[in-house]
Amino acid sequence: MDVSSKEMKPIGVEGAPAPLISKTLSDAGLRPTRQRLALAALLFNGSDRHVTAERLFDEATAARLSVSLATVYNTLHQFTAAGLLREIAVDGAKVYFDTNVSEHHHFLNEETGELLDIDDGLMQLGKLPPSPKGLRVARVDIVIRLRPDQP
Ligand SMILES: [Zn+2]
Repeated sequence: MDVSSKEMKPIGVEGAPAPLISKTLSDAGLRPTRQRLALAALLFNGSDRHVTAERLFDEATAARLSVSLATVYNTLHQFTAAGLLREIAVDGAKVYFDTNVSEHHHFLNEETGELLDIDDGLMQLGKLPPSPKGLRVARVDIVIRLRPDQP
């Protein structure tokens, strides 16, 4: 797989030294436990990332962290609730956690399952339908599905 160079822009706490990650967790109301700090260091590594719980679990295992998949799931959901990650559900069961929590949309490569950010300003939303009574739009997530040019 080729690695896109535009994944290298730093954002948020990514690439931050441990004390800063620790402070970010505290500020978000999460006790900076050893496991949370270790998973945060893997997640916020200096580039925008879209990871599944399984992928992060594999990375944690490769880094010799002793965490269960359940702990990885819980931590990802806690980080999301604290506003450090954004959850993107694709294909029903497949959930990605995005380290870029700003408003943006995505390309999904259907062949590789890779999620790519669509650069700011390149996506224009058309007219939204009126929300049902008593409800308002919280967020609009657009996923544009891609497949290879050649069949
Ligand atoms: Zn994204």
